[in-house]
Amino acid sequence: MDKVTMGIDIGSSASKCVILKNGEEIIGKSVISVGTGTSGPGRAIKSALEEAMLEMEDMDFVIATGYGRNSIPEATIEMSELSCHAYGTHFLFPDARTVIDIGGQDAKVLNIADDGSLINFVMNDKCAAGTGRFLDVMSRILEVDISELGHYSKMSTKQVNISSTCTVFAESEVISQLSKDVHKSDIIKGIHKSVAGKVSGLARRIGLKSDIVLTGGLAQNTGLVKELEDELKHKIQTSPLSQCVGALGAARLAYRHLA
Ligand code: ADP
Repeated sequence: MDKVTMGIDIGSSASKCVILKNGEEIIGKSVISVGTGTSGPGRAIKSALEEAMLEMEDMDFVIATGYGRNSIPEATIEMSELSCHAYGTHFLFPDARTVIDIGGQDAKVLNIADDGSLINFVMNDKCAAGTGRFLDVMSRILEVDISELGHYSKMSTKQVNISSTCTVFAESEVISQLSKDVHKSDIIKGIHKSVAGKVSGLARRIGLKSDIVLTGGLAQNTGLVKELEDELKHKIQTSPLSQCVGALGAARLAYRHLA
C-alpha cells in the first residue's frame, strides 16, 4: 500500500509544504510568501493537498519544521530545520557536503555526511545583513521586485561598493547612490556582493566541502549565486526546489518514521 507523508516548513517569511508518495515522489508542493503567524501555513497545506488531490486525513505522517513549527496542529511531530535541510538537500544532491541556507531572517551553513545526516553547523540569526531581510529592504527602496534582482545584477557594468555592514546604514547608502543617479543594476550587484561577503564569512567559520548547495528562497537569485561563487571560489549548486528543501526533508524524515 502507498504511504503518503507531508513536510511543512514554516519560516519567518514564507510557508512551504511538500507531499511525498512512498518517500520518493513529490505529488504536491507549495510556497506561500508569508510565514509564521499569518494565513501562510494553512494556505500552504491546502494548496499542496489540492495539487496531490488528497485530504489531510490521507497523510500517514506529518512533520512540521522551521521557526513556526510549534503552531501546526496538523503535525504528527516537530523537528529542527537543520536536520530537515540536511536530508532534503541530500535527496536532491546526494554528493552535497556543505549546505548554505539563506532564508528570510537568518543564514545557516551546515556540513553533512554522505548519508545526509548533520555533522555541524553555524548560524547568523542576530543580524539582518546577509539574510533575505537585507534584500527585501533594498528591493523596496530600489522599486525592483525581489525576483528581478538577479536579472538586474547581470546588466551591471560598473563596480559599486556598499560598505555599511548594517542594514539600516546600508539602506541610507543605497538611497544616496540612487540620488546620485548611479544605475540600479550596479547598486544591486554591490548589494549582492555585500550579502555574499557576509555569508562567506559565516561559511569559512565552519569550513567548506564540495559539493556545495545553496538552499532557501534566496537561492533563486542568480545574481547572489554568482557573487557567492566568486567570493567562495567554488561552484554552487541550486535547484528549482531550493525554497522547499526543508519541507522536502521533513516529508522524507516522516517517511522514515513509518519504516
Ligand atoms: P524563511 O524559511 O526564513 O521564511 P525562505 O527560505 O522561505 O525563508 O526564503 C524567504 C526569502 O526568499 C525572502 O526574503 C524572499 O525575499 C526571498 N525570495 C523569495 N522568492 C524569491 C525569488 N524568486 N528570488 C529571490 N529571492 C526570493
